[in-house]
Amino acid sequence: MITSHHIADLKTHLTQLKNKGLKIGFVPTMGALHAGHISLVDRAKKDCDTVVVSIFVNPTQFNNASDLASYPRQEEKDIQTLKENGCDIVFLPSAEEIYPPGYDSITIDLDPIENTMEGAHRPGHFNGVVNVVSRLFKIIGPHIAYFGRKDFQQVAVIKEMVKQLQFDIKIATVETKRDPNGLAMSSRNLRLSEQQKEEATILSQVLKKGKSWANTYSPYQTREKMKTYLSESSLELEYLQIVHPEDLTDLNQYWVEGATACIAAFCGDVRLIDNMELVEYT
Ligand code: AMP
Repeated sequence: MITSHHIADLKTHLTQLKNKGLKIGFVPTMGALHAGHISLVDRAKKDCDTVVVSIFVNPTQFNNASDLASYPRQEEKDIQTLKENGCDIVFLPSAEEIYPPGYDSITIDLDPIENTMEGAHRPGHFNGVVNVVSRLFKIIGPHIAYFGRKDFQQVAVIKEMVKQLQFDIKIATVETKRDPNGLAMSSRNLRLSEQQKEEATILSQVLKKGKSWANTYSPYQTREKMKTYLSESSLELEYLQIVHPEDLTDLNQYWVEGATACIAAFCGDVRLIDNMELVEYT
């Protein structure tokens, strides 16, 4: 596995691979890798000849300084994990490489997909995501880039960005990997105590309940029942929305295929998100 900290060095390797006609798969991450990240690497390995993983804790997508400071970092362990899981190149840039002096920040109109859920509760978050992912796409130029469904709104934002900025890159979405008890894997879970991990399983439980309620109740009624169910837990709900899978607008009266429930909640001071498709595509 090649470990690269600099754009120039990375580009030299990538040019050699592209000149051989190899298909490049790219998995952007913020590190503190777990089996969810590795499921993206596995999928990329199946589809592509070479897999590039980036590890970069992007400061511009954190709207809260203490969240950025407490974000888990374990570079050496991550490099070892990637080596063991068949990654070909790991890219570990510094903030100065990604945002050099004079860097021209991109702003695109992401209405209506940005102005709800994560976008509404974390101002500037998706602008930070768009800037780092577009920068990485330009540096790496992959054929396919892999994102987790765990960050449901992020996938919609990235697809819209690819359209608007006309990147010739396919976006592949990978299912959410969960602990055996249902908790969606997340780097932030490292900050949960064993008891909190147990308490946080209420998120996947209420999503499963929502899926069964969707057979009987309207989206509005289902959402209210899910909120009541959650109100009995120790988690503090930030939002619970049932949205259209493409434009992410709220569903109230009628179901559509791909309708998805999205939740953000605090378990202690750790902010967790999860989502589930409530109505399958036929
Ligand atoms: P992060 O390091 O949290 O920025 O995540 C990097 C990528 O891994 C994103 O595309 C995430 O959606 C994806 N990811 C994070 N957690 C999971 C999970 N539990 N299952 C599948 N993909 C995930």
